[in-house]
Amino acid sequence: TLGFGLKVLFLSSDTGGGHRASAESLGAQFELLFEGSSYDLLDLATEAYLPPYNSIVPYYKHLSAHPNQWKLIYGASNSRVMERVVETNIKVMTVVCERNIRKKIKAYHPDVVVSVHPLQTSVPILSCAKISNETGKHLPMFTVVTDLGSAHSTWFAGGVEKLFVGSTQIHTIARNKGIPEEKLELVGLPIRYDFAVESERLGDGRMTEKGKEYQREVREKLNLPAVDRKTLLVMGGGEGNGALSNIVDALYIEFVKQGVDAVIMVVCGRNEVLVKSLEDRNWDEVSVVPLGFVKNMAQYMVAADVLISKAGPGTISEAAALSLPVMLTSFLPGQEEGNVDYVVEGGFGSFCQDTDPEAVAEEVTLWLNDEIKLTEMSDMAKKAGHPYAARDIVKQIDLSDDEKEKEAIAKIVAEEEKKLSAELR
Ligand code: UDP
Repeated sequence: TLGFGLKVLFLSSDTGGGHRASAESLGAQFELLFEGSSYDLLDLATEAYLPPYNSIVPYYKHLSAHPNQWKLIYGASNSRVMERVVETNIKVMTVVCERNIRKKIKAYHPDVVVSVHPLQTSVPILSCAKISNETGKHLPMFTVVTDLGSAHSTWFAGGVEKLFVGSTQIHTIARNKGIPEEKLELVGLPIRYDFAVESERLGDGRMTEKGKEYQREVREKLNLPAVDRKTLLVMGGGEGNGALSNIVDALYIEFVKQGVDAVIMVVCGRNEVLVKSLEDRNWDEVSVVPLGFVKNMAQYMVAADVLISKAGPGTISEAAALSLPVMLTSFLPGQEEGNVDYVVEGGFGSFCQDTDPEAVAEEVTLWLNDEIKLTEMSDMAKKAGHPYAARDIVKQIDLSDDEKEKEAIAKIVAEEEKKLSAELR
């Protein structure tokens, strides 16, 4: 039988902040729902793969700063011809690296393996099946797709117990790639538990009385220069990419011109040079609050009235969960393009390229001066949001192929969930 807590192994890679953030949100849910659980993150791509896959982390850092090169590689590798080349390459890896991959996974003695990375699906699935055979104990493997609007074909390797997706768009792609309906679960992108907690505290949304009151409370807690001024959150993803500084300049100029009394919070992520340069400047008419990498993102999102960001799937899902309207200003071609449609079609934001920061500033100023528009967008964001996605995924992870054991696990989950909901209220 399975011993509780569980040992969970996530397959992830630090290509952007989103994969790790998803893994950690799921890991925390396992710990909450199965007392005594623990989790690890394994990056097989760096540790066990053949070139060129073993260099994806440094490649990604370079490419995410050079979107045109990214477009070429992403587009080419997602085309039909290249799909074959990738498949062949994976076959080679299967022969050459599979034993090593299996050894790495086995060393963690996991009860369950969850992949949150598109390049750690097919061969590890085979390894988990082989481990099950070798040990006589079923080692289930799941994939959680951490993209929203478009997704690379390598996500959809068959043979997992279940594949969790965050949007109807990805659900359709998965069906087209041959994943059967019964293995697909549409649950939303897993985001940190803080977002579920903050979403409860906002009640029916940030534009309600309760929401506004809570927002003021959080602004005070964060020591913002004012609690009753319109507040913006400007960010560029974990690496702090994008023309952040130009956007802040344009917002400042537009706000001064239009007499908008606002606070601009700027999350520079790991871009310390930008934090320093914003700190050194003299912002006398509109408050600018430069921030480095913030850990309490959920609170900053509660404090904001509008988010300005690149089209990262994690960030978009977090904003939606907190009923926060979004202005997107850039995207990685291919991978993040669909995220823009997700927001625009979802009715909770727009896209305005960061190459024209004045246009971004003008549009956002219109929103800030239009309470009805803000309320409409906020309501639509709430509709799109899945604050409890991480918990919903963990609840649906079948850890056993034994019916009795399954029932016992479901009971544990239900009891813990009741306790958690009571705590939140
Ligand atoms: N993030 C954070 N603090 C920061 C900047 C970013 O916690 O200062 C988090 C953000 O909340 C999100 C993740 O980093 O969870 C970024 O993921 P996303 O999918 O939006 O973009 P990626 O960086 O993966 O391209």
